[in-house]
Amino acid sequence: MGVIDRESVLAVLGRVIDPETGRDVVSQGLIQGLVVKDGNVGFSVEVDPRAGAAREPLRKACEAAVFALAGVTSVTAVLTAHRGEAPTQGHSHEHGHGHGHDHGHGHSHAPAKPAAAARPAAKPAIPGVASIVAVASGKGGVGKSTTAVNLALGLVRLGKRVGLLDADIYGPSIPRMLGIKGKPQSKDGHTLLPMRNHGLVTMSIGFLVEEDTPMIWRGPMVISALQQMLNDVEWGDLDVLVIDLPPGTGDAQLTMAQRVPLSGAVIVSTPQDIALIDARKGLNMFRKVDVPVFGIVENMSTFICPHCGETTEIFGHGGARVTAAELGCDFLGEIPLKLSIRVQSDAGVPIMIKDPDGPEARAYLAIAGEVAARLDSGAGARPAPRIIVS
Ligand code: ADP
Repeated sequence: MGVIDRESVLAVLGRVIDPETGRDVVSQGLIQGLVVKDGNVGFSVEVDPRAGAAREPLRKACEAAVFALAGVTSVTAVLTAHRGEAPTQGHSHEHGHGHGHDHGHGHSHAPAKPAAAARPAAKPAIPGVASIVAVASGKGGVGKSTTAVNLALGLVRLGKRVGLLDADIYGPSIPRMLGIKGKPQSKDGHTLLPMRNHGLVTMSIGFLVEEDTPMIWRGPMVISALQQMLNDVEWGDLDVLVIDLPPGTGDAQLTMAQRVPLSGAVIVSTPQDIALIDARKGLNMFRKVDVPVFGIVENMSTFICPHCGETTEIFGHGGARVTAAELGCDFLGEIPLKLSIRVQSDAGVPIMIKDPDGPEARAYLAIAGEVAARLDSGAGARPAPRIIVS
């Protein structure tokens, strides 16, 4: 198995011919930002902004060519569209903050195109997936992933067909929390079959790399990996796809919120003030990109002693409810800090499955009910995207 380096990647890309010019993509200078890290390869394919999504086959061809190289474990190729644009705003390699949409299918700068035509290409719906809900947090360690898992399982209990996408690619924990091992299968070498357990279908970058592989991702690679996990996984027919976002409210999260056709978002926070300040940032982020925030969940709300059952309010309690009211958003419910929640997460059998009628499962189920009610009432409904055949 050969060692993958820039030269070997450029050599195979040099054989990918752009049908529009009859020349290879490397000699035309279309390949930019090539990053090779172990077997993981990322790059962007620069295209004319006016061509936009019509150049998707070229992106796919580049991706397939590199993927075919022995030793390549993942390829993330994105379309970017800077050529021919006036070099104003200095946005050539910035991501997020209103510039995120310049990448990927990037034809939002094409002045000749009506905006309505640009938008669906930037946020393609996922065939068969009725709605997508993001679970976000202002910072790490507040229990976002635990909430996403148990919320997803709560939605299953409510009779929904549910998928769970672990977009927390810096610290994917869903495989462990759902007790799933092994690698996803692919029928055609391009699309992946999701993994399954506890009534959920799921995909995580954690299935594709070893657990302790440090992942060094640059902004565009994060977005591209997420888009692949959304679009290149055979999700099947789902009522709802829950996405566990990376913690925080940085550019990557903002771009994801922009790119993915979200029906709504749930923000997880602990009661401490500091975390609540972060929760406000999360709320503002979704508002900025017009994604409805379904509400805030207060996690680790009260401590329930595993020995005597006594309730202690370690971090103070009720802060999320007050913040939600102040910010004019809904309070979806609270989850106690309970040893069994942590133990079950680590054991791969979430509390919703282990003790489905216990108080913790009931708390998650109540939150799932709140989310389901908002989805069913069309709170997160968006106009049906126009389908563009390119
Ligand atoms: P995040 O996704 O925000 O980084 P995690 O969901 O990974 O957070 O949770 C961080 C740790 O806290 C995990 O060990 C998890 O099992 C634990 N945890 C999360 N919520 C609770 C809770 N309500 N009670 C007890 N432990 C919890």
